[in-house]
Amino acid sequence: MAWCKDLGLQITVDQMGSIFARKKGLNPDLPVILSGSHLDSQPSGGRFDGVLGVLAALEAVHTIIDHGISHHHDIEIVSWTNEEGVRFAPAMVASGVYGGAFTLEYGLDRIDADGIRLGDELKRIGCAGDRSAVFNPESPVKAYLELHIEQGPVLERSGKPIGVVAGVQGIRWYDVTITGNETHAGPTPMHLRQDPVPVLGKLIARLYDMVTAHGPDARLTIGELAASPGSRNTVPGTVRFTIDIRHPDATILEYMHRDVVSICTELGAHCSKIWDSPPVHFDQQCIAAVEAAATEYGYPFLSMVSGAGHDAVYVSRVAPVAMIFIPCRDGVSHNESEFSTPEQVTAGANVLLGTLLRLLNVQDAGQQTTPFSH
Ligand SMILES: [Zn+2]
Repeated sequence: MAWCKDLGLQITVDQMGSIFARKKGLNPDLPVILSGSHLDSQPSGGRFDGVLGVLAALEAVHTIIDHGISHHHDIEIVSWTNEEGVRFAPAMVASGVYGGAFTLEYGLDRIDADGIRLGDELKRIGCAGDRSAVFNPESPVKAYLELHIEQGPVLERSGKPIGVVAGVQGIRWYDVTITGNETHAGPTPMHLRQDPVPVLGKLIARLYDMVTAHGPDARLTIGELAASPGSRNTVPGTVRFTIDIRHPDATILEYMHRDVVSICTELGAHCSKIWDSPPVHFDQQCIAAVEAAATEYGYPFLSMVSGAGHDAVYVSRVAPVAMIFIPCRDGVSHNESEFSTPEQVTAGANVLLGTLLRLLNVQDAGQQTTPFSH
């Protein structure tokens, strides 16, 4: 906030504690352009997840000021509260309130492990602002841009410095139970058992064949698996496991869903869907602006879909959105070893600046901005 004030930006804090820093454009009647990310982290998180997007937006605005570039739209840097959802679940809660996924009451009523309410904690630390935390259709947003590390290995392996994010995968979660009969591991012959584990074996093989058949963008994860009662000399009575399926295309995700249900039904397993988050497609014009900026500054880019959730997902419910990814070393994130090189960060910040300049409707066409050089 001190850095923003030094630049003469106008600071407001909303009811969820999200911080906005505004640079005025020439025409106050035009919709604002937002850019930012989050400053909260994981218990052993790194220095890039979130922070990159906030500081790069600040650096881009700083550069626009340094070069005396005039622009029509206002631009606002944003730092969303509680993106990670570590102390207060769920994740992306402030951008969720903004985008209408959660009510303000729901957001403020989140409690931590000690029973402390998020709204009370914001007041205690002086971060409960008075700006409305809910998007107001009367003051629309022209675009929201978020620069972020990829948090996966795809970009680094591609050798390209920039990822242009087309959207975020759809996700569905299931709880599956296979029921058998508990018996002693010794006296009961194999053919007289009702053992759920051989069924589990067939089920898992078919699920992995299914996900392979749906192509390289399909994902399936069985992340929790438990046999009950969980004794080495008892044939389990039940086996429970979770399924997480993901795909960027809603139609294919639906086919995968049908396959999961029919495979489970055929093998006599009980399967219930407990969460459904549809795929998000970012705005074509904003994506085109990112691609044009990357091309102009000579950065090869990869079109990709985000495997992780971001504030941009909820903001995309009320505003046109695009995201820019840069690689991070070995795809590692939510870890103190998280790292992107100064060159990679510079490339991302340059593409963010170039995209902003396109969308801000720069008046003086003769005024060129030099990209950042690290
Ligand atoms: Zn993040």
